[in-house]
Amino acid sequence: MRLHPITAEDPLTLQARARELIRFPQLTMPLLAALTPAHWQVSHTDEITHPVDTRCTYDLVGITAATPGALHAYELAEAFRQRGVKVVMGGPHATLLPAEVIEHVDIVVVGEAETVWAFVLRDVEYEVHYPAGSHLLDEATQATVEVLPGQKKIYRCARPATLAGLPFARRDLIEHGGWNKWWATKGAIIATRGCPHRCDYCSIPHLYPQANRMRFRPVTEVAAEVAAIADKGVVFWDDNIGANPRYAKALFQALIPLKKWWTSQATLASLRDEEFLCLAAASGCKALFVGLESIYQSSLDGANKAHNQVHYYQGLIAKAHAYGIAIQAGIMFGFDGDDKDVFARTVDIMGEIGLDNATISLMVPYPGTPAYARLQAAGRIIDDNWRHYNGKTHVVHAPRQMTPEALLAGYEWAKTQFYSPGHIFKRLSLSQTGLWWNIPRNLGYMFGLTGEVRSRAAMHSAE
Ligand code: SF4
Repeated sequence: MRLHPITAEDPLTLQARARELIRFPQLTMPLLAALTPAHWQVSHTDEITHPVDTRCTYDLVGITAATPGALHAYELAEAFRQRGVKVVMGGPHATLLPAEVIEHVDIVVVGEAETVWAFVLRDVEYEVHYPAGSHLLDEATQATVEVLPGQKKIYRCARPATLAGLPFARRDLIEHGGWNKWWATKGAIIATRGCPHRCDYCSIPHLYPQANRMRFRPVTEVAAEVAAIADKGVVFWDDNIGANPRYAKALFQALIPLKKWWTSQATLASLRDEEFLCLAAASGCKALFVGLESIYQSSLDGANKAHNQVHYYQGLIAKAHAYGIAIQAGIMFGFDGDDKDVFARTVDIMGEIGLDNATISLMVPYPGTPAYARLQAAGRIIDDNWRHYNGKTHVVHAPRQMTPEALLAGYEWAKTQFYSPGHIFKRLSLSQTGLWWNIPRNLGYMFGLTGEVRSRAAMHSAE
């Protein structure tokens, strides 16, 4: 039996991110491959580095896609299905909108794959047919399958997967590619899953059953997997690695002897904790992604993200820098509290607090989130082309205090300012953290700004 998992990425998103210096491999499909029984022959394409060859033949193609990649995933599915290859799709978009996705594929997996994957593969391998309209429970896994006309099936995990005993991800299936391959690592891993917060634009709380209840892999298992990673650099794809400080500190202590460099995502709460920072640094943490999102407290409060308090930004970032940990901030524009001054004020503050780097995006109300429901109810969703839900190239909702065009131009202006030589110099002079990689990374973003972005940004300057 031959299985080909695909990590799908829409061409528009690929183009928007093509010049980023450091990109980390996605973990979903290498982990799914590890969960696949040994008699299945598994290959893998991650579209960030390689295109999919739809002429190849497999017994099953599996696709994972976030919302902006959904339409492209449907095109891939159609190309395979026309040639009689069965296609299963899972991941964020399939979990949020299974009824839409099943129109384009044979099988949908809703939620986490761990508990249902063996069930799906067994049904494919033995060509199991169930009566259309039935809804069945698998006693062994407690997973359910809903059978639709044409033997299309939707599998759902009934309970959160246990993370103890997870196999090591199949890193042999991660291929490097592209101009920036020398900066790549195969060291993607998870230690925890879930996040206790419920920011209203975020899809994480809606992807797993009880996603606000944290789950943890045993520290010894995580450390053993990290030790088995050949690369020096490791990325923990946890939603919030510091959500449980006691677990995080135990993990960091176990990582110290392994002498790796690692990065992950955390919230500002972790930066308040001196012991967390000290152990993180000692265990090789070089940077943390922290979703600051806005410098307007009203915007944060309106997005149910009041756990971010703007007046703490500067002090906490300085504290992380004191431990040699760089901060990559998530910054978004398009909240209801954002006015026309938000762009200039954000650029100023990001310079004053010595931010190392920022992923600057448009706020995207993903389907299935409270933000989407609220904006849709108010008639403010103005674009339903999922391809445009990438937070980079299109505004998909009507902002409250400006036009969509002004939001796009202001966002692009902020990016060009943040990644201008003067701003990079100012920020990194204050930070003084990891300059040997932080300077090239900033320059990578700067040279990645296309002429199209710069010309739209000029519209904002002219206003
Ligand atoms: S803190 Fe981050 S992961 Fe958690 S709900 Fe908010 S945006 Fe999502």
